[in-house]
Amino acid sequence: MNYSAASEDRPRILIVDDERINIDLLNALLKSDYKIMVATNGEQAIKAAATGKPELILLDIVMPGIDGYEVCRRLKSMPATQNIPIIFITAMGDVENETMGFALGAVDYIAKPFSSSVVKARVGVHMKLKRNGDLLENLASMDTLTEVPNRRAFDQARAQEWSRSLRDGLPISFAMIDVDKFKQFNDNYGHGAGDECLVRIARAINGCVQRPGDFLARYGGEEFAAILINTQADGALRMAQRFHEAVAALRIPHAYSTAAPHVTISVGLATAIATADITPEMLSQAADKMLYLAKDAGRSTTKGTQL
Ligand code: GH3
Ligand code: MG
Ligand code: MG
Repeated sequence: MNYSAASEDRPRILIVDDERINIDLLNALLKSDYKIMVATNGEQAIKAAATGKPELILLDIVMPGIDGYEVCRRLKSMPATQNIPIIFITAMGDVENETMGFALGAVDYIAKPFSSSVVKARVGVHMKLKRNGDLLENLASMDTLTEVPNRRAFDQARAQEWSRSLRDGLPISFAMIDVDKFKQFNDNYGHGAGDECLVRIARAINGCVQRPGDFLARYGGEEFAAILINTQADGALRMAQRFHEAVAALRIPHAYSTAAPHVTISVGLATAIATADITPEMLSQAADKMLYLAKDAGRSTTKGTQL
């Protein structure tokens, strides 16, 4: 691979070492292929990893303050950083210490004093593995037709956003979105037109979901689900209104719908302040119920509830 493009496009490596000479050595070795980030103690390293999202971390073990093992332990305990591979760089090349590092989740060891070619080769191998892993992870969480996240990704995001809301005591809303009379659409315009319609609807709704943390997924068939973080019932209702408008603006003709001469959606909303006696499943079920009320009310509309 050739990473000679602008440094922002190159994969990022975080080098953590309390000794400037080691940082300079590694930087000289790697800077032509990677964007180098630097931390000179454990606290800095954790902060830099969480905010700078490096693809790989080269971590010294012996440092004043929190040592490399503890840094590794903390990084592996946080969702934001736990998938970043860590290579320990150490003078302590004995079996016991190496085993301990692997037990903590490190992917490799590089012994000091290092050989330039070995450092480059090992970093290259782990970078490749990380990139392939990320690619697979992305593919596995993406709906192939609409290219929005799939149900699997939704379930993960739901658990994550729910615990975040629980921790912060913030309101959260779920939206269930279902295309109206879509069986009729398929039966009359064909399955290919149906697929194309779903792609355009996914794009239109996704364009409304803009806040970081908000999340839209294809939940199944012709159903989409959205997570709206830090959003009260009135805010969720405004979002639903934007979903309706975005889909209506596509003006996809649907002469066989009972709701309108074009393709429309129905939306069910459920809002809660996250507390320990509510589960995210309960909120999903409530949104589902509201979706059925919206269908009952004639479609192309929104119903909502507060738990
Ligand atoms: P309602 O307004 O009550 O939601 O009626 P509906 O016809 O939309 O609901 P129903 O569940 O009866 O039908 C859903 C249809 O969606 C049936 C199925 O063929 C179609 N569908 C589901 N997934 C896909 C897909 O990936 N592509 C296409 N083209 N159609 C799909
Ligand atoms: Mg040191
Ligand atoms: Mg439907």
